[in-house]
Amino acid sequence: METLDGISAGGFTDSESTIRGNARIAVSQTLIKGICTEGVMKMDKDKAFLDWLYQWEQSLPSLDLEETISDPSHVAVVSEDLVKGFCNAGPLASERVAGIVPAVVDIFERAHNLGVHHFLLLQDTHDPDALEFSAYPPHCVAGSEESEMIDELRSLAFANLFTVIPKNSISSDVGTGLTSWLDQHPEIITFIVVGDCTDICVYHGATYLRVHANILGEAKARVIVPANCVQTYDLPVEAAVEVGAMPHGGDLLQRVFLYQMALNGVEVVSSLT
Ligand SMILES: [Zn+2]
Repeated sequence: METLDGISAGGFTDSESTIRGNARIAVSQTLIKGICTEGVMKMDKDKAFLDWLYQWEQSLPSLDLEETISDPSHVAVVSEDLVKGFCNAGPLASERVAGIVPAVVDIFERAHNLGVHHFLLLQDTHDPDALEFSAYPPHCVAGSEESEMIDELRSLAFANLFTVIPKNSISSDVGTGLTSWLDQHPEIITFIVVGDCTDICVYHGATYLRVHANILGEAKARVIVPANCVQTYDLPVEAAVEVGAMPHGGDLLQRVFLYQMALNGVEVVSSLT
């Protein structure tokens, strides 16, 4: 019996067979060596990028909030999905996401103290038969506790300034009132985006705001994402396999999507101090 690694391939009796056999072994070994070398090279390349990505995230600069909000009439704080269904109730609630709430509340309060009065809250508010439920378990159905704004934001003294924009998908702009709000507020050119999930709705929302400004030729527009105010969930491989879901590496995806936003012109900073 001949095997790819050639261990038992040397059992030929005449010299010709031995030569042919050895030649096949040599070809197999070269092939395997080539495949392995290619695999190792690809892994090395991936590792080099992941090392760079880690360092990039670690060295993100902070930004001074007061300088950023030099003219509050041009600024809006945009919150993605800070509803109970992603923080503390239902199948998609995540402790990691709930962990950003104090930093988000701090940004809301300081921005308000600096004179900002535009706060846009994009919130999952799903139809009971939303097609998104083929990808995610049913969540944040309109009228349910999960679809309610988190108490920490709802209880802010200036909550009357909030503009809630319901959404029925992971998109902030498709089928929502966001674009018409932007059209009605052309003076708003600085957007501070916070919320969850970094790689899903935050990514879509921040990228849309950047693209929208680019298309309008708004040279002074800024879309800013403070990394300490966005987060995503974690679902380890083993746990995912158990429930038949796709795994979700929270730390890696947080990093990759911060990068992906920065790559597309969003200002990703460690925090707004
Ligand atoms: Zn949803």
